[in-house]
Amino acid sequence: MKFFRCAAYVLFAISLCNLGFSAYMYRELRTPNVIVAPDPALREINEHSMIRDTQILQGILMIHHDREIHPAGKQDMCPLCDEHNRSKNMMVQQ
Ligand SMILES: [Zn+2]
Repeated sequence: MKFFRCAAYVLFAISLCNLGFSAYMYRELRTPNVIVAPDPALREINEHSMIRDTQILQGILMIHHDREIHPAGKQDMCPLCDEHNRSKNMMVQQ
């Protein structure tokens, strides 16, 4: 009979330790203190997205130029208008 009472105490102590450990791990995992070092490639993403947007915009403007939606030589950032103005300036110089 004494053995069973000892076993009950031991099991109770083990369960208390388990409960304490569970509470400790719960608190630790709720507030993660892992510091994630910023990837140096993240800084380039902003620049790359700006370059990509410029290329998309210029593609759209070239389609507009081709369909004559905007008058030739009047649209800013349109590569075909820039080329048009450059060739016109060269013709004026000659
Ligand atoms: Zn144009």
